[in-house]
Amino acid sequence: MSTIATALTAIHQKIKETAQQFDRSPDNVHLLAVSKTRPLIDVITAIEQGQFHFGENQLQDALPKIEALAQDKRVQWHFIGTLQTNKTRLIAEHFDWVQSLASLKHAQRLNDQRPTTLPPLNVCIQVNISNEPQKTGIHLTELADFAHSLVKLPRLRLRGLMTLPAYSEDFMQQRRPFHALHTAYHQLQEQGFNLDTLSMGMTDDMVAAIAEGSTLVRIGTGIFGSRSKK
Ligand SMILES: *Cc1c(COP(=O)(O)O)cnc(C)c1O
Repeated sequence: MSTIATALTAIHQKIKETAQQFDRSPDNVHLLAVSKTRPLIDVITAIEQGQFHFGENQLQDALPKIEALAQDKRVQWHFIGTLQTNKTRLIAEHFDWVQSLASLKHAQRLNDQRPTTLPPLNVCIQVNISNEPQKTGIHLTELADFAHSLVKLPRLRLRGLMTLPAYSEDFMQQRRPFHALHTAYHQLQEQGFNLDTLSMGMTDDMVAAIAEGSTLVRIGTGIFGSRSKK
């Protein structure tokens, strides 16, 4: 087996064990393979193992891979990077999901630019859960208003929330922001929003995220190995 195949098997096993440990169904924790910076061949190897959801954070890096695999309708591309106004059109045309939505201007553009030949673009609101000035994301206090504005846009389909919390190595510290995001997610559901995606957890904090209700972990290093610094 390839290294990627072995790593995927190990991650699935870890997701399953962790879900069971925290009284959750493993079926409710999905895996996004973060293929940013990786070559097409790595994505193809993962597809051969039954992995179909991939995350990318740079449009230019992603487009050749998306185009090469355009015939394979099983493959779903998630944009997880910071949005830039001049890139929204190509993102609306090529991606299935945008997980990093944090401004109404970008939401409006993605809505207007989503081709009518494609289904509505799935979106998650990126929440700046640790209130870090350098990070993009909606603040919790503005979340409900932002969600109400998004659901008025017919070419977007609001699926849930995504976060990148402040870094910590401590398990209890890792759990705290994930717990806060889960609470916000639950409150939106109680207000009538039809959400099914709580995107939280990466290679180093996946266990804490699953413990706090993540439905989608975004794993790069844990599948493809460490990224070389450019
Ligand atoms: C790179 C990235 C990941 C994956 O990080 P790993 O530590 O490699 O698992 C997840 N989410 C986002 C938004 C990223 O940019």
